[in-house]
Amino acid sequence: MSVTIGVLSIQGDVKENLLSVQTAVEQLGINASVCSVKTPEEISRVDGLIIPGGESTTIGQLSLVNGSLKILKEKIENGMPVLGICAGMIMLSNTADDRVVGKTDQPLLDVLDVKLERNSFGRQRESFEANISMNSIDIPNFNGVFIRAPSVSDVGSDVEVLSKVNEKIVAVKKGNIIGTSFHPELTQDVSLHKYFVNLVSNQSN
Ligand code: GLN
Repeated sequence: MSVTIGVLSIQGDVKENLLSVQTAVEQLGINASVCSVKTPEEISRVDGLIIPGGESTTIGQLSLVNGSLKILKEKIENGMPVLGICAGMIMLSNTADDRVVGKTDQPLLDVLDVKLERNSFGRQRESFEANISMNSIDIPNFNGVFIRAPSVSDVGSDVEVLSKVNEKIVAVKKGNIIGTSFHPELTQDVSLHKYFVNLVSNQSN
């Protein structure tokens, strides 16, 4: 059976994720189609979704206005696998305060019981790369690219911590929901995208 994997294309790193997930599908030899999705109708057809990094306030506001936020929440609550990257992880969370400005009342999906600190590592010019270990999902070495990245300051009891950098939590998982502070699509390494494609494929078959 073929699965459909979408990349939410409201704002942010859409093209890079389409490329990474397409490469992952090819390397795995899985029967899957990859597409960008924006409207509720398009979102209703996917079996798994990547919410890319970008600007979470923009992604949240625009998906609220075009009606996508509601269907996204419903589908994720019904078990659709989702990978939220940076701003995408912020979208998945239930609380996200900015390190400097605090609360912003931005629209969130509230499907992952984590508290996030936005821009936790500083501004754009403080972007950095760090070696990441996600041993529990068999990715022991990964180059994490952090750009105005959030960190997870608190996790609910059912949320698994996948990785930390300098004592800050930077990757989490709860069932079919994965969130990362860093940008896997900005490296040549598609192992996290492959892990996600397998998650979608196993869920749908
Ligand atoms: N700082 C951005 C936000 O709060 C996230 C940055 C990113 O996705 N690279 O939405």
